[in-house]
Amino acid sequence: MNETFVPRGMNRRDFLVRAGGVCVSLGLGALTNGCAQSPPPPVVAFSPLPFKDDALEPHISRQTIGFHYGKHHKAYVDKTIELVKGTKLAGLSFQEIMKQAAGSPEKTDLFNNAAQSWNHEFFWNSVQKGGGGKPEGEIRTLLDKSFGSYENFRKEFLNAALTQFGSGWAWLVIEGDSLKVVKTANADNPTLKGQTPLLTIDVWEHAYYLDYQNRRGDYVNAVFDHLLNWKFAAENLTRKVKV
Ligand code: ZN
Repeated sequence: MNETFVPRGMNRRDFLVRAGGVCVSLGLGALTNGCAQSPPPPVVAFSPLPFKDDALEPHISRQTIGFHYGKHHKAYVDKTIELVKGTKLAGLSFQEIMKQAAGSPEKTDLFNNAAQSWNHEFFWNSVQKGGGGKPEGEIRTLLDKSFGSYENFRKEFLNAALTQFGSGWAWLVIEGDSLKVVKTANADNPTLKGQTPLLTIDVWEHAYYLDYQNRRGDYVNAVFDHLLNWKFAAENLTRKVKV
């Protein structure tokens, strides 16, 4: 199981589960009821954005966030909840549902919706107001080691984001002790290949069409240079590896 990013809300519930029934107050209100017996299982949920809906302007508009987060992302979460209701997958995290549905033709719809739920929450955490620029610290060292330079990495990442044909995602991942740029189609997710995502950019048209129309290049350049959340990438790196 991937041990890196777990959607917010899942972390705290997972913590309760892993606490082995010890009653721990984490400000979860009703979730603490009865926790001395058996903590409630994790459930998938539509998590709040980690920023205000206009925080990414002018690079990503409030209107785009309204549709992208409020309509597209929400629809993936709602559909996942609907599909697992009453099944043995109810109560599992998006990551677990995605893992169990992967490769099953009869679970394609569930896989797509669970993976898109996970991918989108990861994406919202991959961007922030005042982001972008060159990272420092361990991640910079690894970028230089893996790509030769930040500039080479930037070129490779933007190329992946631009050349992903149709809908999909561009990712910075770590595999073993090397950073890699990968791209995935539709809802696919690198954790299923044993890679640990550090950052992603959503290149589905719904991510940029209102602001940039068909100019995906302008969108990915803006996100890369002004919004990428290197603190989040560093957190994902710390959880996974010791450099
Ligand atoms: Zn999207």
